[in-house]
Amino acid sequence: MTNRRAEIEARLLAVRQEIAQAVVDSGRDRADVTLIVVTKTKPASDLHLLADLGVTEVGENRDQEAREKHGECTDLALRWNFIGQLQTNKCPSVVSYADRIHSVDRVKLVNALSRAVIARREADGASSVPDLECLVQVNLDPMAAAVGSPGHRGGVQPAEVRVIGDAIARADGLRLGGLMAVAPLGEDPRPAFERLREVSDGIADEHPSATIISAGMSGDFVAAIKAGATHVRMGAAVLGHRPTVR
Ligand SMILES: *Cc1c(COP(=O)(O)O)cnc(C)c1O
Repeated sequence: MTNRRAEIEARLLAVRQEIAQAVVDSGRDRADVTLIVVTKTKPASDLHLLADLGVTEVGENRDQEAREKHGECTDLALRWNFIGQLQTNKCPSVVSYADRIHSVDRVKLVNALSRAVIARREADGASSVPDLECLVQVNLDPMAAAVGSPGHRGGVQPAEVRVIGDAIARADGLRLGGLMAVAPLGEDPRPAFERLREVSDGIADEHPSATIISAGMSGDFVAAIKAGATHVRMGAAVLGHRPTVR
């Protein structure tokens, strides 16, 4: 365990160099791409090391685990990204620690998040609770199961993005930040990331501040950056493989 810091430091350096290279190769600015380190299944001690190594954004996908870890990291200046499928009954908990939600894919969830932020404001005093940034999760697999049906893995089809985006933009206590997607498994991610970029361009007319494109994981972040990703979500490349696939 004494070498954990050195291990993370070396992996982080390599990842940062690869991001920088992809940014240069695509003629973009380094400041346009933010690294979110996905810390799911990893202990709070890793988050302390990450913060010490200059990481400012972390990602978690399960409410209970995230809330517990957040409680062990209140001394750290980290921004918390919730990237997992979210049930409406978990919203009051998630809004207590999350700075950004990447996985909004239904109006019911928009309403639950809005109510949870409003309830916090009533409890804490309005000025201390900022609008919660929400991303619409886009499903880039045209054959995907519908939202709410068995086998669905999250995200709305591109044609439905506008409905969810408008609902977020209208909702009290929420702010539309942009879009998030996971590339379909087992195929070249590049056409999917290009499609995501087109969807993003499409909502920019109506919502000019919704500029985030959260795309790219350890296996495909270079392709995502080349297609315009502004936020990459990297777990294994920085922290090593997780014990189970999640
Ligand atoms: C786990 C996860 C990641 C990170 O995956 P890695 O392959 O470990 O980089 C990114 N995005 C989402 C939505 C995830 O659930």
